[in-house]
Amino acid sequence: MNVSDTEVVWSILKSAGFENTNSISEADIVLIVTCAIRENAENKIWERLTYLKGRKRARTKRPLKIGILGCMAERLKHSLIEKEKAVDLVAGPDSYRDLPRLLALTENNQTAVNVLLSLDETYADVVPVRLNEDSVSAFVSIMRGCDNMCTYCIVPFTRGRERSRPIDSIVKEIQKLSDEGVKEITLLGQNVNSYRDTSQESFSLGNETKMAKGFKTVYKTKKGGLRFADLLDKVSLIDPDMRIRFTSPHPKDFPDEMLQLISERSNICSHLHLPAQSGNSKVLERMRRGYTRESYLELVNHVYDIIPDVALSSDFICGFCGETEEEFQDTLTLIREVKYSSTFLFAYSMREKTTAHRRYKDDVPSEIKLRRLSEMNQAFREVVAEKNETFHGKVQLVLVEGRSKRSDKFLAGRNDGNVKVIFPSIDIPVEFQSKTTSVIKPGDYVSVKITGSSSQVLKGEPLYHSSIPDFNKNLCEQMGLNHCKLSL
Ligand code: SF4
Repeated sequence: MNVSDTEVVWSILKSAGFENTNSISEADIVLIVTCAIRENAENKIWERLTYLKGRKRARTKRPLKIGILGCMAERLKHSLIEKEKAVDLVAGPDSYRDLPRLLALTENNQTAVNVLLSLDETYADVVPVRLNEDSVSAFVSIMRGCDNMCTYCIVPFTRGRERSRPIDSIVKEIQKLSDEGVKEITLLGQNVNSYRDTSQESFSLGNETKMAKGFKTVYKTKKGGLRFADLLDKVSLIDPDMRIRFTSPHPKDFPDEMLQLISERSNICSHLHLPAQSGNSKVLERMRRGYTRESYLELVNHVYDIIPDVALSSDFICGFCGETEEEFQDTLTLIREVKYSSTFLFAYSMREKTTAHRRYKDDVPSEIKLRRLSEMNQAFREVVAEKNETFHGKVQLVLVEGRSKRSDKFLAGRNDGNVKVIFPSIDIPVEFQSKTTSVIKPGDYVSVKITGSSSQVLKGEPLYHSSIPDFNKNLCEQMGLNHCKLSL
C-alpha cells in the first residue's frame, strides 16, 4: 500500500511541477510515507526522523523540509509537531491532493497539517507514476479504508471508512499498464475483496452481499454496487497474458461466484491470501474477526474443492491479549493443517486507540511472544518445505522478474502461486516444440520443470517460452490434467 500511495503522491507533485531525486543532499524536501500498523514500522520512522533532523540542522545554505505522510501522520500528528518538533508537514492518507498547498505553506516556516479523513477520496482520477518503470509488475489501488473493527487493528482509525474506485477508472489504468508491457497486476486495498462500486445509479440494484458460510460482520449487510467478482471479471478480460493478483482480502468476502471465476480464468492467479490471524476460536472472538476456527477451515476446504491447485497464504499474530499456551497451540495446528505456501507472522504489539487498547491487557510477556513467533516460523517452514517437494517433476509457468540475487547465471521469477522459482539463464525454444531458440528476459513467461526446492524457493530447468493461454492449453492437452483453467 505504501508503494501505491507513494506513486499517487509522486503523480500529484509531478503535476504541480516538483522534481524528484534519489540523493538527500540534493533534496529540498523529504517526504516519508508511513505505516502505523505495527510498532516496529513506527520505530523505524522515528529512527529515520532522528537522522533527518541531524541533516536538517547541518544544512547551512538551502533549508531542508521534512514531511510525514500516511497512517502515522494521522495517528501521531500531535507528537510529531508539538512534542518532537520534528517535521514541517503532516499529511494523512486522504490529504495527498493538498500537498502542493501544504508545501507552499512551509515556505513561510509554518508547519502545515492536513489529516482529515474522507468518506469518498479514492484518487480515482490520479494516474500513479510508477517508481520502478522496469518492473514487470505493478500495483493498482482499487479501494481504501476498512469497515471491520478487528480489536487489535489501527487501520479503521488511520485510513477511515471503506470506499471504492469506479470500475471504469480501474479498467482504464490497467489497460494503460498493459499497453506499457506490464505483465502482472496486483489489485490493492485494505479489504480488497470488499470492493463495491456504487458510483452509478444503475449499480445500486444488486442483491445483498453474500458472505462465506459461518462469517459475520460488525456492520449491517451492504446492498447493491458492482462487487469484486464483477471487477475481476472485467480486468481479467483486458489482457489474457497479464496475471491478476490481489491483496489484502478478508476471508468473509469469498462468495462462490468469485472462487468459480478464479478457477476458470487462466490469468487470475490461483493464489489466495486468507488471513486467519489465529487458529483458536476464543482468540478470534477477542480479535473480533467474525469467524471461528471451524468456519475458517470450512472455507479453506471449500476453496480447495473449487480451486484444487490453489496456493494459500495467511497472516498470524501470536501473543494477543490473554492468549494461553493451549490457545496458541491451535494456531500451530492450523498452520500445519492448511499447508500454506507463504505466511506473514507477527508477535502482537498493542496500538493506542484500538479496541484492544481500551478493553484488554497486553499481558503476554515479550519473551513468550518471541518464543511463540519462532514456533510459528518453525511450523510453517516444515510445512512449506514438504509442500514445495510436491512440485518436483511438475511443469510451472514462471513470469521472469530478473537475475537471481545469488548468481548472474540464474534467473528468478514466480509461478502462479507466487512461489519464487530459480533456474539457469540459457537459450530455450521460442515456443513449445519449436527448434528456434531465444534468450530469456524479464517479463517473459517461461515453462519450467521443477527439479528441486527448499522451504523458500523452487529450482528448475527452463523448457520453452510460452504465454498464459498457450501454457494452459499445452499442459491440459499434454498432461491430461483433470483441473484445467479456461484459456481466454
Ligand atoms: S479487516 Fe481487520 S485487520 Fe484488516 S484492516 Fe480491517 S480492521 Fe484491520
